[in-house]
Amino acid sequence: MQRLVKTAIFTANRREAEQSCLALLQGCDAVSKLSQIHAHVLKSGLQNNPLVLTKFAATASDLKAIDYASSFLFSGDADTHLYDSFLFNTVIRAYAQTSHEKHKALCFYNVMVQGSVLPNKFTYPFVLKACAGIGDLNLGKSVHGSVVKFGFDADVHVCNTMVHMYCCCGGGIEFARKVFDEMPKLDSVSWSAMIGGYVRVGWSTDSVELFREMQMAGVKPDEITMVSVLSACTDLGALELGKWVESYIEKEGIHKSVELCNALIDMFAKCGNVDKALKLFRNMSGRTIVSWTSVIDGLAMHGRGMEAIALFEEMIGTGVAPDDVAFLGLLSACSHSGLVEKGKRYFSSMVEKFQIVPKIEHYGCMVDMFCRAGHVKEASEFIQKMPIEPNPIVMRTLISACHAHGELKLGESITKQLIRSEPMQESNYVLLSNIYAKMNHWDKKTKIREAMDKKGMKKIPGSTMIELDHEIYEFVAGDKSHRQSKEIYEMVEEMGRKMKKAGYVPTTSEVLLDINEEDKEDALNRHSEKLAIAFALLNTPPGTPIRIVKNLRVCDDCHSATKFISKVYNREIVVRDRNRFHHFKDGMCSCRDFW
Ligand code: ZN
Ligand code: ZN
Repeated sequence: MQRLVKTAIFTANRREAEQSCLALLQGCDAVSKLSQIHAHVLKSGLQNNPLVLTKFAATASDLKAIDYASSFLFSGDADTHLYDSFLFNTVIRAYAQTSHEKHKALCFYNVMVQGSVLPNKFTYPFVLKACAGIGDLNLGKSVHGSVVKFGFDADVHVCNTMVHMYCCCGGGIEFARKVFDEMPKLDSVSWSAMIGGYVRVGWSTDSVELFREMQMAGVKPDEITMVSVLSACTDLGALELGKWVESYIEKEGIHKSVELCNALIDMFAKCGNVDKALKLFRNMSGRTIVSWTSVIDGLAMHGRGMEAIALFEEMIGTGVAPDDVAFLGLLSACSHSGLVEKGKRYFSSMVEKFQIVPKIEHYGCMVDMFCRAGHVKEASEFIQKMPIEPNPIVMRTLISACHAHGELKLGESITKQLIRSEPMQESNYVLLSNIYAKMNHWDKKTKIREAMDKKGMKKIPGSTMIELDHEIYEFVAGDKSHRQSKEIYEMVEEMGRKMKKAGYVPTTSEVLLDINEEDKEDALNRHSEKLAIAFALLNTPPGTPIRIVKNLRVCDDCHSATKFISKVYNREIVVRDRNRFHHFKDGMCSCRDFW
C-alpha cells in the first residue's frame, strides 16, 4: 500500500517536472536560455525522457542551434536505446533544413537504424531532402534501397521526395522518372516534382511534354507546376506557349503568387516581349528584387540599356537595395548598349555606395563591355588589375576582342597561356586557329586543326528552335530530317537570290577564317537559323513576325543575312542567341551590330 502511494507521488512529481520542462522550452526564445533549461532537465532527472528531449531538439532547431541539442543527446553517456522515432525524426529534420550540415541528417539516420529504432514514413522525406541537398547520386540510391526494405515505396509523400531527390543528383533524372512511372498513385506534387526536375536539368521540351500528359491525366496543376512550366517556356523561348500558359492560369484561377508573377515576367522578358513583361511588372503588387531584376535583365538583353538604367534607379528610389544579381543585369545593360562610361561609374558604386563585393561575373561583364566597345587595351589593363584570378571565360572574351580588333600578337600570347592551363578546352584551339588565320599563318593553323582532331575534339553543333502552332521545331546545321526539307532548301536558295539582288554579299571569308563558334564544314547557307527562317517564311502568312532561338552566338554572316531578309520579305525577325536578343526590322538590327 505504502509502496503504491510512493509510486503515485513519484509519478505525479515526475509529470509535474516534465510539464515544467516542456513549458520552459515552449517559452524559450534565445540560444542563451537553452543551457539553463538543459541544466534544469538534468536536475529533474529527465535526461532520458523522450518527450522532453524531442521538444528540446525541436526548440534548438527553431533557434538554429541543433548542434547544441545533438551534442548531449548523442554524447557517450546518453541512453540512446530509450529514444524513439519521433526524437530521431526531429533531429534528422533539423539537420536536413540546415544549409551546410545536411550530411549530419544522414549520420543520425544511420545511428537510428543501427540502434534498432524503426524509421517511419515521416523519417524518409527528411532523409531524402538531405540527400537532395548533398546531391550525391550513390547516397540517394542507397537510401532508396532502405525505403524499399522498410516498405515505404508505396507512400506518395515518400515517393514524391524521392523523385525530387533524384532530380537534384547529377545524372539522376532517369531514376526520378523510373520512380515516377512506378508510383501507384500520382498527385499534383508528384507531377510538379518531375516537371520541375526536367526544367532543372535543362530538358525543357520533356518538361512541356509531361505537363501535357498531366492535363490529359486530369490532375489540376498548382502554382508550383506553373512556375516550372513557365521556366521551360523561358528556356525554349516559346512565347506562344508561354502566352497560352498565362491564359490557362487565368482560366483555371490558379493563385498568382509572387513567384508565379515573377515567372510570368521573366518568361515575357526572355521570350522577346519585354513590353508585356514591363506591363505585368507595373501592375504587380508586392514586387520583390527578383521582379525588378527580371525586367532589368530583359531590357538589357534587348539592348534597351537606358531604360534598364532608369528602372534600376527607380528601384533604388523605392527603397529596394540592389543585390549582386541586379548589378549583373545593370552592367550587362551597359555592355549591350555600349554605355562604357556609365558602366564604369556603376561598377565603382557597387563597392563604394552599396558595399557589394564584385564577383567574377561582374568583372566578366566589365571586360565584355570594354571589348564590345573596341577598348581592347583598357580591357587588358582592367584584367591585370583585377583582385581575383580571371577565369577562362573572361580570357576568351579578351582573346575574341583581340582577334576582332587586330591585336593579334597579344591575342596569340594569351591564348597560348590559356591552352597550357586548359589543354582539353576546344574553344581555346578554335580561337588560336582563328588568330593564325587572320595573321595568314596557314601552316600553324593547320597544325592546330590536326592537334584538335588528334584529341578527338568536336564543336558544339549549332541549332535553332522555332515555335509554330504550339509545336517546337528544332533545326541543326545542314538538317535534312524535316518532312518539308526539300521546300526549305528551295526557300533558302530563293532567299539567297533575293538578298543578293538587294545588295547582300555573303561573308564567305568566314568560311576560311572560321572566327565563329559554329562549324563551317556546313556551308553558311545551311546554318540552322537560315533553315528555321525559311521554314517560317513557308508556313506563316506574310507580315507575321518570326521568332527563333539559337543555342550559340549568331555568326556574322547569318546576322547580315537576317537583316536583308527582314527587308526583302518585310518581316520582323526576333532572334534570341546565347547572349542577347536581336530585333531585325527593315534591314536593321536592334543590337546595332554590337553583340
Ligand atoms: Zn550563321
Ligand atoms: Zn543584331
